[in-house]
Amino acid sequence: HNHIDNATVDKVRVAIAADDTHAHVPEYQAFADYSASGGYARLSELRAGGDFGTVQQTLLDSGLRGLGGAGFPSGRKWGFVRAEPGPRYLAVNGDEGEPGTFKDRYYLEREPHVFLEGMLIAAWAVEAERCFIYMRDEYPAVLEILRREIKALEDAAIVTPGYIDLRRGAGAYICGEESAMIESIEGKRGLPRHRPPFVAQVGIFDRPTLVNNVETLYWVTRVLREGGEILSGVEKNGRKGLRSYSVSGRVKNPGVHLLPAGSTIVDVIEAAGGMLDGHSFKAYQPGGPSSGLLPASMDDIPLDFDTLQPHGSFIGSAAVVVLSDHDSARDAALNMLRFFEDESCGQCTPCRVGCEKAVKLMQADHWDQPLLAELCSAMADASICGLGQAAPNPIRLVMQHFANEI
Ligand code: SF4
Repeated sequence: HNHIDNATVDKVRVAIAADDTHAHVPEYQAFADYSASGGYARLSELRAGGDFGTVQQTLLDSGLRGLGGAGFPSGRKWGFVRAEPGPRYLAVNGDEGEPGTFKDRYYLEREPHVFLEGMLIAAWAVEAERCFIYMRDEYPAVLEILRREIKALEDAAIVTPGYIDLRRGAGAYICGEESAMIESIEGKRGLPRHRPPFVAQVGIFDRPTLVNNVETLYWVTRVLREGGEILSGVEKNGRKGLRSYSVSGRVKNPGVHLLPAGSTIVDVIEAAGGMLDGHSFKAYQPGGPSSGLLPASMDDIPLDFDTLQPHGSFIGSAAVVVLSDHDSARDAALNMLRFFEDESCGQCTPCRVGCEKAVKLMQADHWDQPLLAELCSAMADASICGLGQAAPNPIRLVMQHFANEI
C-alpha cells in the first residue's frame, strides 16, 4: 500500500482548486471590449422602453428560425411564451451533443457576449424571471468563459447575481432534447416528456419556458444591432438566410463555415477546401446522424430547413459529415445506430428495444430488409421523442441508396 500523507493531499487539493477546469481558454472578446464597441446598448434601449411587437416583427422579417435543429420561427416562439401567465423562465440549450456539431462552441469561444446579449434580449421579450444556461460539460473552455463573463455582467449590474444560472450537462445526448433538458435542470433524470403540453406552457418547474439554442440567440443580437437584412438579404437557390455548417469528414478544411442557407453539398465541400487528396465524394450526412446519409448523386439540394424532408432527411443542426470512396455507407449507418442504442434513454420500448434490434440486424452479412423496414416504421411511429422517431433515417436511406452494400 502506498502511503499518501495529508500534506500531499492538501497540495493536490490546492492545485485543483486553482485550476478546476484544466481548460485551455482561447482568445475571445471579453466584456470590456464588447461593451466599448456598443455591446449591450440595444439591450439597455429595449429595457428602457422597447416595444415587444416591433422586436418580434424584426425577427420574423429577418426569417430567423431556431438553430438547434427544429427550425421554428424565433419570433413566433417568443410570442407564445410571452402570452402565457408568469412567472416565466428562459432556458438556453447549449448541450450541442449531435455528433458532428460544433457551431455553438465556435461562437461561444469567440464572441460570448453576442450570445449573452441575445439571451438577455430574449429574457426581456418574455419577461423571464430567470435564465438557465444548460451547457455541454465537454466544453470546459466555454464553461470557464461563461463563468467569467457572467460575473462581469453581474459586476456591471447588467444582471443581478444569480439571474443567470449556468448548469453543466453530464454527457447524455438525450439531454439536448428540450424536455429532457428541462427535467435535467430540475435535477431529475433526463427523460423526454410527452407533448402536449409544450414547454412554452409547462416547462421548468411547470412554468412557461422559452427554450432557445445558443446560435439562435447569437443571431438575435446581430439582427437587432445590424438589421434583419443580414439574414433576409442573403439569397441563394430560392432560399434566404445564412447557415453555420459544422463540416467534418474527408475535406481539406473541416470547421464551421458560414454560407447562404441555400447552399448545396457541393458549395459546402468547396468552402471546406475541397475533398482530401485521393478521396472522391461518395455520400454525406446533412445534419447529424438523425438525418441519415444521402448519396453524392443527390448533390443539388439546398441544405436548408424543409428542403431535405421530401428526401427522407432534414438539416437539423447542420452537422455535415462528408464521406468518400474510402468509407462504407453501411458501416456509417451501423455506427449511427450504435450511437442511438447507447444514447436511448430507455423510457419507451420502440426506441429502447428497436435500436438494439436494429444494430443486431445491421451486423448481419445481409440485411433482412423487410424486417428492418417494419422495425423502422414501429420506431418512427411509436417512439416518444425525436431520438427514436429519427433513428430509422440512416437505415432507410442506406437501404434506398446503398443497396449494393447491404
Ligand atoms: Fe427515450 Fe428513445 Fe423514447 Fe426518446 S424515443 S423517450 S430517447 S426511449
